[in-house]
Amino acid sequence: MVPLPNILCRWFTENKRDLPWRQDKNPYHIWLSEIMLQQTRVEAVIPYYERFLAACPTVHDLAALEEQKLLKLWEGLGYYSRARNLQKAACILCEQYGGIFPADFHALHSLPGIGDYTAGAIGSIAFGLPVPAVDGNVLRVMARLSGDSRPIDDPKVKKDITMQVQQLLPAGQSGDFNQALMELGATVCLPHGAPKCQSCPAASLCTAFQQGTALSLPARTPKKPRKIQQRTILLLHCQGKIAVRRRPAKGLLAGLWELPAYEGVLSPDALRQALAQDGFSVREILSLRPAKHIFTHIEWHMAGYDIALNACPDGFTWATPHELRGAYALPSAFRPFLQTLEDNPDGL
Ligand code: SF4
Repeated sequence: MVPLPNILCRWFTENKRDLPWRQDKNPYHIWLSEIMLQQTRVEAVIPYYERFLAACPTVHDLAALEEQKLLKLWEGLGYYSRARNLQKAACILCEQYGGIFPADFHALHSLPGIGDYTAGAIGSIAFGLPVPAVDGNVLRVMARLSGDSRPIDDPKVKKDITMQVQQLLPAGQSGDFNQALMELGATVCLPHGAPKCQSCPAASLCTAFQQGTALSLPARTPKKPRKIQQRTILLLHCQGKIAVRRRPAKGLLAGLWELPAYEGVLSPDALRQALAQDGFSVREILSLRPAKHIFTHIEWHMAGYDIALNACPDGFTWATPHELRGAYALPSAFRPFLQTLEDNPDGL
């Protein structure tokens, strides 16, 4: 039987998509594309990649680029720390390596924003280093090929699968084999129960296909339910202004502006009491429609009140509705309550 690496390398040579970063083996091009492809689809990345390379054809150009221009080139891709890390790494490459990528896995791995996968991709594709490059696509393909029902988000399982790929790497073709696994995952062995097994070059060697388990693999650790936090959001009005404050420098929405709030969902009576205890001179209170906001691990279930005050207490920043829209970008969690201002800018 023809071994898996030979089958996949041949399939990759004949079927790989024609992508701009596959025109050569320049490590800068491979690096840039891999960073852009994190969290972003191939079709969306292509125009960004081309625009970025036109503006920064070399690592030296990237290192010297003004930050605002860098962020503008990245605008719309999100996860801006990726762009900042690219530039930090470019500066290190220029300062310590004369602008030339080191052909060494550990040296690549030590650069900002480059982890196991990206170091493996650059090392194997650009330099032919015998190192694996295991991303989510590869974990899925490997779990199905070997019929591995362990959760692929378990670090120990990921380590095991990485070792398996390492042992399969064909001499002199590590880059093609890594890319073949990624390409198979991106175009044939698709996620969400949609593998195209009938057109898969590896079907004859695939345990999941033979056992009919492809649709149920890979397994994942069940997600913990989100923590629910109840809050009472205060839209405090005073002399045509609204109270905002900064969130703590660490934790959820760190350092961003927010509307003041009490923990828990307070009834109008309980709220009156709490406000009186805290020294607020309340003229009028109006209940707002409750709202919910979902973060990655937390849900806020919120009551809201529009509160007119007779005097503006210290301890807040007071902003006009116009300033709130422009200068004090508030997280979208508060949008349902700020909508009240759009409907009635003067408040109560
Ligand atoms: Fe994936 Fe099906 Fe190919 Fe197995 S046969 S690797 S499950 S596409």
